Amino acid sequence: MADQYTFTDPTTQYRTEGFPEQQQDGTGLDEDLQVTADHGEQTYRGTGRLTGRKALVTGADSGIGRAAAIAFAREGADVVLNHLPEEQADAEDVAALVEAAGQKAVLAPADLSDETAARALVHTTLDALGGIDIIANVAGKQVYVDDLADVTTAQFDATFKVNVYAMFWIIQEALPHLPAGATIINTSSIQAYQPSPGLVDYATTKAAINTMSKALAQQLAPKGIRVNVVAPGPFWTPLQASGGQPTDALPEFGSETPMGRAGQPAELGPVYVFLASQESSYVTGETLNVNGGMPTP
Ligand code: NAD
Ligand code: MG
Repeated sequence: MADQYTFTDPTTQYRTEGFPEQQQDGTGLDEDLQVTADHGEQTYRGTGRLTGRKALVTGADSGIGRAAAIAFAREGADVVLNHLPEEQADAEDVAALVEAAGQKAVLAPADLSDETAARALVHTTLDALGGIDIIANVAGKQVYVDDLADVTTAQFDATFKVNVYAMFWIIQEALPHLPAGATIINTSSIQAYQPSPGLVDYATTKAAINTMSKALAQQLAPKGIRVNVVAPGPFWTPLQASGGQPTDALPEFGSETPMGRAGQPAELGPVYVFLASQESSYVTGETLNVNGGMPTP
């Protein structure tokens, strides 16, 4: 099994074949993915880099958020796992992994398009963990629509609510409680720079996330709070198998990158840990692109 420690050719480190056509309803479940994704379950090795830290991770049930949550826990953090109620089964799997790492896991179902529910996650974290010093905003909504004429106002609105507004709500609510040293990590995308024609709303939110994070990083640096961004390229997650891509694009998914393959969420665990931990103490306002080599500005 591939891991993040063994010297290996990265072009063949993980699956190179593309993925079978498939379509899940709603946001999709990790447990229903045909071709299992790797989130570092069997491989991520912690070295105490987040000992005693208290993390809120949105979208923690599956995909990239799952990889971040597993890595945070193995580095010694307690984790509040936000997910949608219908993703309970996935979220329970992640909670079990966090607990197996000897850390506290708290399930926090909430629809992030709802301001009250999004803000309440901060208080759930404060109550359950006794504080908050890592916020990883990973949840995201991506629905591919070929023709702008078919993008409903409801979709446009929900994409902005989940991807942009929720981030604003959570960070604003948390600020009075964040100690110096706290870290915020937002999740953007290659779509911020190379938008797909069928992802007009989604790609626009990802550009907004980059810009919001750069502004906020400057505002919060004097308080000792850092804000950084992870911008993934194509990663194999339920998002892509539940309407994020046309189904007939899945067999080629990731082949457009210079590395020639899709990323696995396991390749992002160390990235979120780096930005969350004191190892990145002088890094703020940065976007870390993890995309198999696609050029970014
Ligand atoms: P994923 O489906 O595993 O995770 C997305 C999560 O968003 C879901 O698990 C769900 O819990 C959450 N979510 C969606 N709508 C929500 C709502 N209304 N309320 C609360 N939570 C909601 O897919 P992923 O690919 O791991 O996505 C994680 C992040 O990575 C997203 O922000 C996505 O935009 C970003 N991203 C993914 C890719 C990729 O190729 N997979 C590329 C670039 C960026
Ligand atoms: Mg999910």
